[in-house]
Amino acid sequence: MLTVSNYHYIRENFATPYPSIFGVTPCDFRKQLLMLKNEGDFIEPKYLVENLKDVMESADHHFLITFDDGLKEQFENALPILDELHIPALFFINSINHIEKKVSLVHQIHLVRSVVSTASLYENLVHHTNRKLNQEEIQQAHQFYRFDDHQSAALKYFLNVLLDFTTQEKFINGIFTKHFNEKEILENLYMNTDEMQHLIKRGFLGSHTHTHLPLGIYEEQTILYELETTKKYLENLGGVAIDCVAYPYGTKEAATEEVGRLAKQLGYKIGFTTNPGLNEGSNNPLLLNRFDCNDLIGGKNYK
Ligand SMILES: [Zn+2]
Repeated sequence: MLTVSNYHYIRENFATPYPSIFGVTPCDFRKQLLMLKNEGDFIEPKYLVENLKDVMESADHHFLITFDDGLKEQFENALPILDELHIPALFFINSINHIEKKVSLVHQIHLVRSVVSTASLYENLVHHTNRKLNQEEIQQAHQFYRFDDHQSAALKYFLNVLLDFTTQEKFINGIFTKHFNEKEILENLYMNTDEMQHLIKRGFLGSHTHTHLPLGIYEEQTILYELETTKKYLENLGGVAIDCVAYPYGTKEAATEEVGRLAKQLGYKIGFTTNPGLNEGSNNPLLLNRFDCNDLIGGKNYK
């Protein structure tokens, strides 16, 4: 069987004026790897691609470590720890950061929320869209984001669920560019070409698609474009086939059967969702389960 543990931000310090960036410290990352190491064997991505069925059907416990979003801190803070412990990993990057030189909307939102209060952002949004959430929408927001406080739930529902991508982008980008220098953020937040090439050579790089959209809600043409653009970009960069993809958000709505089918059609061999669970013989290779690192042993939600 196969257990996949996924990470995002890996940094020493998560302090911001308003807490909105969450992840694990290098120290906690190291501790968790040592705990996982006691429970099974870590697997090389290349070996997994060639032997997926055997690995899933095996009674032995295999672990794969993955990282989403192509962040530079993963290369700088996590890779040295992985190398020290001789643990392979897979890093999934978005090509929009490199081809279009744009900060992904998801990271623009994290950064904006780290310097602007929820209340002020909500007020801004009401002003920008010239509407408010009604009582029913407020209730839905609380159900949708039940782990958030009421104010954050309302903001997130308004922004992420009620607005289309273009409107979200326009609203957030206006605030983002007021507070941040996009070129500087691009350089500091994401891996550069050399770092990506280093990972490709080791078989450690995969696609997180182009723009970081919840693919499942889009039309086939967009899904294909999102999956193919990154695959081609990385294959040109490294001169080897890119076989693995992690679908942005990775939920049931974002990573549907259709998305898995289209990924396979484009030549991807393995696809990762964020549905928590083990992978055994019967799992679709293009829609594998993947745990958030916090839900596994050594993670902060592990019971
Ligand atoms: Zn992501």
